[in-house]
Amino acid sequence: DDRIAKISSAIRVIPDFPKPGIMFQDITTLLLDPKAFKDSIDLFVERYKDQQISVVAGIEARGFIFGPPIALAIGAKFVPMRKPKKLPGEVISEEYSLEYGTDIMEMHVGAVEPGERALIIDDLIATGGTLCAAIRLLERVGVVVVECACLIELPELKGRDRLGDKPLFVLVSAD
Ligand code: 5GP
Repeated sequence: DDRIAKISSAIRVIPDFPKPGIMFQDITTLLLDPKAFKDSIDLFVERYKDQQISVVAGIEARGFIFGPPIALAIGAKFVPMRKPKKLPGEVISEEYSLEYGTDIMEMHVGAVEPGERALIIDDLIATGGTLCAAIRLLERVGVVVVECACLIELPELKGRDRLGDKPLFVLVSAD
C-alpha cells in the first residue's frame, strides 16, 4: 500500500527526547499533512469497519487523536483510557509497570457493557505495557478486545510478544 510510505515519512524522529538516548517518534508532523493523516485513519477504518466493533478505546494522550475519527467512521463509541485522577465519574483502575516505577490507567464505570467488542488504539507500542493494561481493564468488565492498533511499532522492544495471542495491527515498523 503506497499510503504507508507517505505516513512513515511524515513521522518525525527527534533524538534524545525526552531524555538522552531515546529516539522519539513524533506524530505531530503527520497531523500537519492532511492527506497522510487521513490515509492513516482510512487504513484503520478499512480494516475495522465490518468487524462489529462497538467500542474504540483510545489511550491518553495520542490515542485521543486517532481514536475518535476511527470511532465516528465505523459507528462505534469512543472511550478514553486516562491517566489517574482525570476522569470525574466513578472509575476502575489498572496499575502497570514502567521502566521506572508504575503508572495507573483509568476508565469510567458504565462506559462499556459486558460482551461489547472493542478496538484499542494508541500511537505507538514500545514495551507493550500500556496496551496490556488497557486490555486488562476492558477484559475485567467483560469486553471482548478484538485487536490493538498503533501507527508505530518499535519491534526491538518486543511489545508484541507481551500481548500474547492478542492481535496487534500497526502501520509502520520503526527499526
Ligand atoms: P509501552 O507501554 O509500549 O512501553 O509504551 C507505549 C506508550 O508510550 C504509548 O502510550 C506511547 O504514546 C508512548 N511512547 C513511548 N515512546 C514513544 C515515542 O517514541 N513516540 C511516541 N509518540 N510515543 C511514545
